[in-house]
Amino acid sequence: KPVRERQRLPVVPQGIERDEFLAALDELKAQLGGEFVEVNDKPLRDGWYMEHPNTHDMMTILDEEELVASAVVYPSTTEEVQQIVLWANKYLIPIFPISMGRNLGYGGAAPRVRGSVTIDLGKRMNKILDINSEDYTCLLEPGVSFYALYEALKEKGYDHMWIDTPDLGGGSVLGNTLDRGVGYTPYGDHWACHAGLEVVLPTGEVIRTGMGALPENNTWQTFPYGFGPYSDGIFSQSNFGIVTKMGMTLMPNPGGYESFMYTFQNEEDLGPLMEIIRPLRIGMILENVAQVRHIAQTIAVRGHPRSKFYQGSGPIPDEVLHAAAVESPVGDHTWAYYGMSYGPPHIRAYKLAIVDAEFRKIPGAKKVDPKSLPEDEYFWSRDRIAAGIPDIHELRWVNWTPNGAHIAFSPVSPIRSADAMKLFDMGKKLHHQYGIDFFPAFCVGLREMHLIVEIVFDRDDAERKKAAMDCLRDMIDQAAALGYGEYRTHLVLMDQVAGTYSWGDGALMKFNERLKDALDPNGILAPGKSGIWPKRYRGRGWEM
Ligand code: FAD
Repeated sequence: KPVRERQRLPVVPQGIERDEFLAALDELKAQLGGEFVEVNDKPLRDGWYMEHPNTHDMMTILDEEELVASAVVYPSTTEEVQQIVLWANKYLIPIFPISMGRNLGYGGAAPRVRGSVTIDLGKRMNKILDINSEDYTCLLEPGVSFYALYEALKEKGYDHMWIDTPDLGGGSVLGNTLDRGVGYTPYGDHWACHAGLEVVLPTGEVIRTGMGALPENNTWQTFPYGFGPYSDGIFSQSNFGIVTKMGMTLMPNPGGYESFMYTFQNEEDLGPLMEIIRPLRIGMILENVAQVRHIAQTIAVRGHPRSKFYQGSGPIPDEVLHAAAVESPVGDHTWAYYGMSYGPPHIRAYKLAIVDAEFRKIPGAKKVDPKSLPEDEYFWSRDRIAAGIPDIHELRWVNWTPNGAHIAFSPVSPIRSADAMKLFDMGKKLHHQYGIDFFPAFCVGLREMHLIVEIVFDRDDAERKKAAMDCLRDMIDQAAALGYGEYRTHLVLMDQVAGTYSWGDGALMKFNERLKDALDPNGILAPGKSGIWPKRYRGRGWEM
């Protein structure tokens, strides 16, 4: 794996002199312990997924120095998080919380404001505080990864409970859930499956949400709402608080499971396929967050570099993709649907027969026989993930270019033919215009789908990085003009995406700004996250 290091001058937060900043850090060292406050004065090291940096985005689309931390601090308790927040208010220093900082494609560990002090919660606050084997729930600190939670259930012999994992299992359950990330079992909507938060507010107070506000209770993880306004929502994808504990529900072991894969011949089959998927998905015959993947990604996830198939510039031609796919289970087809059926054999057989009859209405649809697939075939990675078993096979498509990095475009739409085709055509046209390979995958939620388009680029190629950014910016604007918005975005695109949610003369952003100013009057917590700037920063040229 490549290790990239850059010599550099350390950065300090804007508005404070270097000496004053270092003296302020000494004060924090006295409270947390010297080894738990690190100045970021070393070369930036990108590492790789399992040894990622916490100082910057290892897959940055800008220069690495643009969004970089001045220091990293490591609290071990909620009380220490409170101390850090009070310290930041005293010196007006921007702070940026990460759980594990593996938010790759959306900003990694980078703070939005250059020179922020990163609070790396995950390093020391990494305990599974509770697993309740009767209620099928758990209570987690920020540093618990999907792998760690999975292993803990195995160690305790709790085979009756499953976790839900995203495509990569190394991230934090809490961090991924706060960013409203997705996994691929029926519990794939992580935010919908959480229950209860503990939050340090930007002024230092601690609150517990839902039933957690009742001093003595045993329902914090079983009933998410409590009494009164449901406040959890304002702590997801926001900069209104630092979450120090989160409850999560666990899925009952369904008593059996079976992955299946269908392929569809033509690009245009996407439209009719969506019309078939929608009622099956809403009716829970298709039970999990399923993926409809384009052949380009099928090729890329095999882990070979693009240069193995094509040396020309511009997007890889369709005929090259099809020639490359002949060795894959997709063969000469274009789309692959990966799904899983849950339950004992007779229950699965009932549902799978319906799926089979419906999918075969598309001329040429093929069912792939899993028995024909070798052990390292991508299908088996999807099989593990849809069974809640963490994995990292998905990383392989990042090898598509040298110094491979990626950034995501993730609009949502209903599960309809017209919507799928409009987004697909728009994305394809713009990728071609900018000479970029197009990797679309539709992740079907319940009544909506996220189109996830990953642009893979060479971190050392300034021209390709610019093309990727221009393409993303155009896709965001054109999607908004067609009526589609992103469910989540990279730090550098947050202002633009927030700007597209402009109904009522930007009424929602005005509301968010009012909340921000009330909760964080000094504007210290993650300024600019999700496009929400505190008063002290607003209109002063921070937006991009
Ligand atoms: P972090 O980086 O720690 O946090 C995520 C965000 O939440 C950050 O913006 C941070 O500011 C905020 N945050 C974190 N902790 C706190 C806190 N305690 N209080 C307040 N705010 C906080 N993601 C998916 O959801 N599904 C996928 O299938 C998926 N597939 C991927 C495939 C590949 C190949 C790659 C490279 C990435 C993929 N991702 C996917 C994106 C990403 O890897 C995961 O979402 C990952 O879990 C996020 O990193 P993390 O959990 O370490 O969160």
